[in-house]
Amino acid sequence: MSDSSRTARRTHSFTESVIREMTRVSNQHGAINLSQGFPNFAAPELIKEAACEAIRADINQYAVTWGSPRLREAIANKYGRFYDMDVDRDREITVTCGATEAMAAIMLALVDPDDEVVILEPFYENYGPDAILCGARPVFVPTLHDGGLDADALTAAFSARTRAIILNTPNNPTGHVFTRQELETVAALCREHDAIALTDEIYEYILYQGEHIPLATLDGMRERTVTVSGFSKTFSVTGWRVGTIIAPAEFTDAIRKTHDFLTVGAPAPLQDACAAALEQLDQSYYDQLAADYRERRDVLVEGLRAAGFRCNNPQGAYYIMADFSELSELPDSEFAIWLTRDGGVATVPGSSFFSDPRHGRRLVRFAFCKTLPMLEQAVARLATL
Ligand code: PLP
Repeated sequence: MSDSSRTARRTHSFTESVIREMTRVSNQHGAINLSQGFPNFAAPELIKEAACEAIRADINQYAVTWGSPRLREAIANKYGRFYDMDVDRDREITVTCGATEAMAAIMLALVDPDDEVVILEPFYENYGPDAILCGARPVFVPTLHDGGLDADALTAAFSARTRAIILNTPNNPTGHVFTRQELETVAALCREHDAIALTDEIYEYILYQGEHIPLATLDGMRERTVTVSGFSKTFSVTGWRVGTIIAPAEFTDAIRKTHDFLTVGAPAPLQDACAAALEQLDQSYYDQLAADYRERRDVLVEGLRAAGFRCNNPQGAYYIMADFSELSELPDSEFAIWLTRDGGVATVPGSSFFSDPRHGRRLVRFAFCKTLPMLEQAVARLATL
């Protein structure tokens, strides 16, 4: 039994990642692992070659703490090209060890203890702990059944104590892509309460429907929005750990300091490779990425429905939240274990995405960032349930 008086209180509410636990159970039973969100297919040749070249060229030492000049130039160009955003590479960009570190560095830089941080739920599992790490109070706001914004609930959650809101679009786990109208609602509340918006846009190019709109492009939002993204999902390199932050210069100054003390910098040769990919991959790469994911989505959505799950068709990202009420009365964690052991497919129990676990009791999350043959095999197994 561990003695909690010997560890910091801030860690006591953190639980072990359910996703890692499901991966362990999956391996134990030889299941197809659709729990964790990492691709099982190769990254583009170009980015792999560029990484090898960078190492051969001895780009092995610390890069500039906030990102190599080449990568920051490429990132500034990306935001100009895709979103018509004018980003200053010297004063408004920070390169981090993934979007994960980006979020932590931003919160530590911009949020004070006892500030409130609004988090839409269901949520990506890191946001709550990030708020707790900086001593802030997370205020959870449920979204609608399809992951859309509940404007009344959000309005009720904002107050003079609100320092920031975290918004993830396209969304993990709901697959919702926030519309301009929804973003306008968020923007109006941020302006009214002088709050900051932290937007996690890591799935910006994995889109099947609608349009990805960075919140920063809305009127009056550039100066109060911190835009997070990265290369884990866009270039299928989740293990490389390269993320990006776009923020007004005043925020960036503070963010660069927390980032420096947390990690010093992201891997130098991999920054070079990500820059090469941004510079050289044209629109057809991004179109193909989305088209391939659409095919994977369609296979899994159809298979899940045929097997008796109820689910929405995700508009973006690569997850499906599925209701298993018609298949089982078990609570989500037990169902997930049963599905892994007896069905041969591993998922994440829905309760891990909610502040109140009861809201996820009938849900499991499937990830479809896997090859078609693997997804087809999973569907065949689900068909026998
Ligand atoms: N944000 C969201 C919403 C995610 O789903 C994930 C990974 O699953 C991340 C951030 C992590 O991104 P990174 O690999 O850049 O740390």
